[in-house]
Amino acid sequence: MSSKPRLLLHICCAPDATSVYERLKDRFDVTGFFYNPQIEPGDEYDRRLAETMKVAGILGFDLMTGERDLDRWMKAVKGLETEPEKGRRCGVCYAFRLEQTAMLASDKGFDYFTTTLSVSPHKSFDWLRDIGQSLSRKYGVAFLDEDFKKHDGFKRSLEVSRELNLYRQDYCGCLPSFQERQRILAEQEEAYRFFSQELSSCKQCTEFLEPAPVFEGGANRPLMIVGQAPGRHELTSLKPFSGPAGKRLWQWFEGLGYAEDYVSSNAYITAVAKCYPGLGPNGKDDAPPSTIQRRNCLPWLEQEFFHARPRILVLVGSVAAKAVLGKDAGMKLVGEWVQKRLWGRKVTIIVLPHPSGLNRWPNMPGNKPKFERALTLLGEELRRNL
Ligand code: SF4
Ligand code: SF4
Repeated sequence: MSSKPRLLLHICCAPDATSVYERLKDRFDVTGFFYNPQIEPGDEYDRRLAETMKVAGILGFDLMTGERDLDRWMKAVKGLETEPEKGRRCGVCYAFRLEQTAMLASDKGFDYFTTTLSVSPHKSFDWLRDIGQSLSRKYGVAFLDEDFKKHDGFKRSLEVSRELNLYRQDYCGCLPSFQERQRILAEQEEAYRFFSQELSSCKQCTEFLEPAPVFEGGANRPLMIVGQAPGRHELTSLKPFSGPAGKRLWQWFEGLGYAEDYVSSNAYITAVAKCYPGLGPNGKDDAPPSTIQRRNCLPWLEQEFFHARPRILVLVGSVAAKAVLGKDAGMKLVGEWVQKRLWGRKVTIIVLPHPSGLNRWPNMPGNKPKFERALTLLGEELRRNL
């Protein structure tokens, strides 16, 4: 029997449980309690519960599950449906879930109760502490008033969730928060529609080419793929990576278990320069864009990145790597896991060799393992994010 005090931990979702459990496990005998009846729709509830069970199994703690009494929660927040997130509805929602936790802790003889909610930067610790302390007096169980977001608790939850390949939701949980998220997504899609019309009619480089911008995607794509410029095939189909180089690129993805159609529907696919630069000096169809074309087109790439909001950025070839990461980047980053803040957004970057140069590049000493490592990293990121 453990000599540590017993603590009932209310768990709002699997990612938040990770760093909180890590912080508590040496001081307490922790039992998790998944009680979030407000989560909608039902399949989202099931998914968050399944992920929490998975985390409990991996980290090795007992887990109890509360009843999904959605009607009672809706009665509790009646009249507050239109409150914004962090408003009065959230205060009632915290109290609703914590009261059930305090009651259970009291019934089962726990020494403490607390919640993972405070690990989120969106949750008010002051509210949670006041609610917890008042319930502690009501039910006679001590409330552990730790703000788990402190000392990089939230950052740590992101790291462990990534390691454990956990699902991370993109809205808080209740129907109003789900609807608000849907409204924002619709607005972002509409903003992208206007942007893509503007980009499609760009004529900035008319002095030296006939502009026909080639790109494909939409707002909020987890993956963004950037090549150097379209070739003749792409010019005809107006579809990026639809020529011989693209065929090879899609084979790499297929080798990782991701078919072209699936990748395309989750990706924003574009290039450093979006119009065909013409034949290269050797008469081949792989000419890099000129300095002027790159300069003209780079601001478009930044805006595409803004609309796509990717979590993974795949830079295909040294032109793409150098344009985005600076002239010192390039093929030396193949096989490296790079995470950085780019244009105001944190993103994981994978550099791949350009498929059209692959006959030469992997045959150079030391390059084959780098290429294989790059594909391994890409596969891991796709599994985490798609
Ligand atoms: S936004 Fe989150 S905390 Fe607020 S009421 Fe909805 S589920 Fe509860
Ligand atoms: S290459 Fe870029 S900047 Fe130049 S015309 Fe095409 S879309 Fe416009």
